[in-house]
Amino acid sequence: MKNTFASFGAAREVTGSKHIITLNGINILIDCGMFQGSRKETEYKNKKLNFDPKSIDIAICTHGHFDHCGNYPTLLNNGYSGFIYSTDATKQIADIVLKDSAHIQQADIEYLRKKAKKYNIDFEDKQPLYTLEDVGRVVNVWKTYPYNKWVQISKNIRFKFIDAGHILGSAQVIIETDNRRILFTGDLGRKGMPILNDPVFADPVDIIITEATYGDRVHDKWEDLEKKLADFINKIYNRNGRIIVPSFAIGRTQELVYMLHILEDKKMIPQDMEIFVDSPMAINITEIFKNHPECYDDETKEAFIRHSKNPFGFNKLKYIQSVEQSKMLNDYKKPCIIISASGMAESGRVLHHLANSIEDPKNAVMIVGFMAQNTLGRRLVDKAPVVKIFGENYENNAELAVFNAFSAHADYLELTEYLNHYKKSLKQLFLVHGESRVLDKYKQYLIDNGYDKVNIAEFSQFYEI
Ligand SMILES: [Zn+2]
Repeated sequence: MKNTFASFGAAREVTGSKHIITLNGINILIDCGMFQGSRKETEYKNKKLNFDPKSIDIAICTHGHFDHCGNYPTLLNNGYSGFIYSTDATKQIADIVLKDSAHIQQADIEYLRKKAKKYNIDFEDKQPLYTLEDVGRVVNVWKTYPYNKWVQISKNIRFKFIDAGHILGSAQVIIETDNRRILFTGDLGRKGMPILNDPVFADPVDIIITEATYGDRVHDKWEDLEKKLADFINKIYNRNGRIIVPSFAIGRTQELVYMLHILEDKKMIPQDMEIFVDSPMAINITEIFKNHPECYDDETKEAFIRHSKNPFGFNKLKYIQSVEQSKMLNDYKKPCIIISASGMAESGRVLHHLANSIEDPKNAVMIVGFMAQNTLGRRLVDKAPVVKIFGENYENNAELAVFNAFSAHADYLELTEYLNHYKKSLKQLFLVHGESRVLDKYKQYLIDNGYDKVNIAEFSQFYEI
């Protein structure tokens, strides 16, 4: 019986993570994320899983980002009948993320149907990929385990989670059989980032499947961020502009709020510049953050929990819940910062804020996260002179600032330092979760640095392990 590894998503790309490890005939699916990108490709890749869900014996989820957990309902709808395993925080986050997605899909379908009627096109049979009821079924079969606790899959296969330091509840997965240990990094965080613990090391392993999102890049230092960020905010404030920040509701928004809180404490940003977090999902996720202090690093515990302060709230920060309040921001004339989702500016309220702000050169767009190909976020990063929002063209005159120190993914030096820890015992290394040219470059870098047997996982290819 062959033991194999295969990727059915996030192979030479970054979204739609789905990986299958087969050991002694047992099929283990790690992550079942939603693919994000062009509309056509999205439809095709998310509807069709490209493997038989009925053949999966156990499903594991590394973390609650949409591109890692967003398509479990499709897995169940197509015949998967087992459990899903993750940490508790991941389950709670995934619950919110999946429900949010079901709502958005429903709204999209209604919009399309309306349009169809207007233009006399037949859209009637169009259905959402999944509904709230489907999400309910997923949550019902979702089991949680803490970090470092072995879960027995069969007589001689077991797995455990260790902290990945990427977002709240994020995990790397160690799978162990009689004669081999496999490490699946999931999305890997960075040392010394605020709020979360650093990524944890496991005992020696034989096989690693690692993400390599930033396999070609070195991030700015977190320590330099404070001043850079404060300078930028003051500049926009002084010319009476507003700053729009497309931000992932999970993790990035909380880090950003935490950082702004520090700047506020140090009086480094204008006292009368209001900050709005306009994302109901971010508000819900922030509640989960408050409920999981065990995931915090010592610094955060020290700074906030012992002093019984709320790290995610301060005077001039306002969380916006209702659509009416969100719309009112359009008429807000004073300089302000608006943090809003979605993170890649593909959907959500941030689109309204961008449409309303980017034509005025005194405003700014601040990028604090990864922008995948073919997303509006990427077009903003690429400084496209004109961008399409809600089907209309907007001149992109706002100033662009990219703060990659916020990244929740290890850069290539950090990643290599991490992998070096396992170099002695390592027999096989697979690269996933990175754009094609990035993976090619990183593979070469690893080979130049003494690694052999480095594979870039190709879509739906089976590799013997
Ligand atoms: Zn992630």
